[in-house]
Amino acid sequence: MNQPHAKPSVPPVPGLVRAACLVATALLFGTANAYTVKPGDTLYRLAQLHGTTVAELIRLNSLTSTTLEVGQTLRLPGVSTATANASVPGTVPSRISGVTVNAPATLRMGDAFILRLSGPGAAQATVRFPSEAGEDVRLPGERLTPIPAGNEFIVLGRVVLGKNTPVVYEIQVGQDVLQGRIPVTGLPQPLQRLNLPPRIASKLEDPARKAEDAAVEQAYARRTAQAWSRPFQPAAAVRARSSAFGQPRTYVANGPVAYHYGTDYLAPAGTTVMAVNDGTVVVAGMYPVRGGLVVIDHGAGLTSLYFHQRAVTVKVGQKVTRGQKVGEVGSTGLSTGAHLHLEMRVRGEGTDPAGWMNRLWPK
Ligand SMILES: [Zn+2]
Repeated sequence: MNQPHAKPSVPPVPGLVRAACLVATALLFGTANAYTVKPGDTLYRLAQLHGTTVAELIRLNSLTSTTLEVGQTLRLPGVSTATANASVPGTVPSRISGVTVNAPATLRMGDAFILRLSGPGAAQATVRFPSEAGEDVRLPGERLTPIPAGNEFIVLGRVVLGKNTPVVYEIQVGQDVLQGRIPVTGLPQPLQRLNLPPRIASKLEDPARKAEDAAVEQAYARRTAQAWSRPFQPAAAVRARSSAFGQPRTYVANGPVAYHYGTDYLAPAGTTVMAVNDGTVVVAGMYPVRGGLVVIDHGAGLTSLYFHQRAVTVKVGQKVTRGQKVGEVGSTGLSTGAHLHLEMRVRGEGTDPAGWMNRLWPK
């Protein structure tokens, strides 16, 4: 949704971060685990096993050398106290000896990311994100089966907008469980007060909105096989980006704060809108808020959404390929000027479209 004429306001919003969740996470995962160095251990291997970096291990332990000594105690950022308590003391790495995990060192709010699993046990691993419990997300803590990708197996993750507490992942192979966490930084964007005119804001109250939301929720719940094998491409030839992903905003004076789950691109009405990648059309039609809407299921829990189109040129059930026309830029629904609002949702949660473009997987 876009409001090209709105002036961004300056003051940041107090209380955007949900304090209760912050406290709970700190209680659960606030303590780094102590690990006793065993013969053959290297910083590189320990970093790989715990989804962190050599630099982070050096920083965390104030090391002056990369050489480890057997019996030396190290702090590991990637393992929670819960995991340490559940295992034989000092044997945490052996519990995941069959699987090497590579995770991003840090994430930003609204990022999509991938966990890479390799090694003989990777094919049997399942992944969960326990940090999703308590978040306002769809199917929190869902157990995910990694997707084969070359020599590795990967799992798509996402950081929910409005949360900057660490992402906690849990990898299970048989009875063995590894937990790791990834710190998250916020997006430094001031609150935008849109103060939509009543004529447009009234669309938020449209009785048909329930059916609209139900249609997209159904799309978010789909779990089909990965349908793409080529990098993602932009959805339209656009002049500029008019409203950034993740922008906190209010639509009406004193209304609740909502996040902008997509990116707005300025383009003249009638500009061709293209599928960002291969997939199946699961929603196609005119809706009160999203206007001319197309939703494509790309598989692997990923959907792309195209809002406010003046025309939709595909049908539900139709298979589309990357670059295929799905509609035309317009200003239908909750919109005040011609633009394309593009969303890239991972298991129903909005992720930054820029993280996907011209890549096979998000960065
Ligand atoms: Zn928008």
